[in-house]
Amino acid sequence: MARNTCVVVGAGIAGVMTALHMQRRGEQVTLIDRWEPGHARAASSDHNRVIRAISGRDEFYTRWVRQSRDMWLEMQAESGQNLMYECGALILATEGHCHWEDATSETFDKVGVPYYKFTPEEVHARFPQFKVDDIKYALFEPEAGLLMAHRCVITALDLFKRAGGVLKRGTVTTDARERPMLDGKPLQADVIVIAPGAWMAEMFPRTIKPISAIMGINVLYTSTPDGSDAFDMANMPCWIDHGQGSFGIPSSEGSGVKAAVVIPNTPIDINNDERLIEKASLAKTRQYIRHRLPGLEGQRVVDSKFNQVILTPDTHFIVDWHPEHENVLLAGGCSGHLFKHGPVFGDFAAGVALGEYGTADRFKIAGRKKLSPKESPSGR
Ligand SMILES: Cc1cc2nc3c(=O)[nH]c(=O)nc-3n(C[C@H](O)[C@H](O)[C@H](O)COP(=O)(O)OP(=O)(O)OC[C@H]3O[C@@H](n4cnc5c(N)ncnc54)[C@H](O)[C@@H]3O)c2cc1C
Repeated sequence: MARNTCVVVGAGIAGVMTALHMQRRGEQVTLIDRWEPGHARAASSDHNRVIRAISGRDEFYTRWVRQSRDMWLEMQAESGQNLMYECGALILATEGHCHWEDATSETFDKVGVPYYKFTPEEVHARFPQFKVDDIKYALFEPEAGLLMAHRCVITALDLFKRAGGVLKRGTVTTDARERPMLDGKPLQADVIVIAPGAWMAEMFPRTIKPISAIMGINVLYTSTPDGSDAFDMANMPCWIDHGQGSFGIPSSEGSGVKAAVVIPNTPIDINNDERLIEKASLAKTRQYIRHRLPGLEGQRVVDSKFNQVILTPDTHFIVDWHPEHENVLLAGGCSGHLFKHGPVFGDFAAGVALGEYGTADRFKIAGRKKLSPKESPSGR
C-alpha cells in the first residue's frame, strides 16, 4: 500500500528518475511538467549525452558514474531500448591545461576505473580522425560512451508509468514565500520534489537564484563524409578537449558528429528565446573542426540545439530541503554534468525525499563556493 502522496515537478532526467525511484519504493507519485516530456527546451532533450567517469580528483562523482553505468545497462536490459553505446571517451590533455587530466588518472587508479594513457602518436594510430599534434597526452576510458538522451528520458517515463506513476501537465509557480503552487492553490502532497532544471532559479528567487547562473550552449551536428563510417560511434569515441573549450560525440544512429564549442557566458532567455543557433557558434565550430577533425572539413551542418545549463558555483548538484518548507525538496543544479548520473541521482534524491537518509554536504544549498578547475569535477 502507498505510504505517501508525492509530487515531482519537472520531467527532465532529474525529475523522471526521482519519480521512478520513489514510485518503485511503493509511494504514489504524480509527475508534473509544463510541457510534453522530452520537449526541446529541456536540457535533457537532445540526441545524446556523454557518460564518462572522468571527474578530475573528485572520487564521489567518479564512483557515481560507475554505479550509474550499471544502472543504465540494467534499464537497457529491462526496457529492451538502446540507451547506451559504449564507444569510449578520449580526454585530450593540452600543454598548460593538464591539471584536471593529471588528477583524473590518480582518481582512476584509486577507484579502479579502466583507462589507457596514450601519447599523441598512439592517439593518431588508434583514432586517426583526431589531429593531435598540440596535445601532451590523452586518457582513454573504454567503458565510457554515450547515452541516447531523449530516448533515456522517454524510457524512464515509460517505466514510471508502468510502475503506476501518474503524469500530469501543469505549470507550478511559487508565491512570495516560495511555496509551490498549482492552478493558484498551494500544491498539496506529503512530499514535493522540485526538479525543474534551469527554471529552478526563477521559481526560487531567494533560495536558488543567488547560488546559480544560467548559460546557453550552442551545439552543432555535422554530417559524416559521404561513404565513410570513420566518424560513426563504431569507430570513434566521445571526446573532451578542455584546451579548446570543446567536447563532442561521434555520429550515433545517424545524428552526425556533435561538436560543442562552449562560448562562455552565452546568455539565454529560457522562456522566450527562439532555440536557433547563433552565427558566431557556426564559425567557431567550423574553426574547431578544421583544427581537430580535419576529415570533417567542408561537411555540412545537419542539425543543431541551443540549450541551457544552470551552474552552481562549485558545479555540485542541489539535493536539499527548502529552508522554509519542510516537505519541499529541491533536486537538480545540472552544472553541465547531471545527465549521466541520472539513475543514481534519482535513487539518491528519492531516498532523501522519503527520509531514508540526509543529503550529502556537497548537495546542500548553503555554503557554496567556487572551486579551482583542478578541484572541480567538470574541470571548469
Ligand atoms: C549542450 C549540453 C550538453 C550537455 N552534455 C552533457 C553530457 O555530455 N553529459 C552529461 O552528463 N550532462 C550533460 N549536460 C547536462 C545535462 O544535460 C543536464 O544536467 C540535465 O539534462 C539536467 O536535467 P534536469 O532534469 O535537471 O533539467 P531539464 O532537462 O531542463 O528538465 C526540467 C524539466 O522541468 C520542467 N519544468 C520547468 N519549470 C517547470 C514548472 N514551473 N512547472 C512544471 N514543470 C517545469 C521543464 O519543462 C523540463 O521538462 C549537457 C547539457 C547541455 C545543455
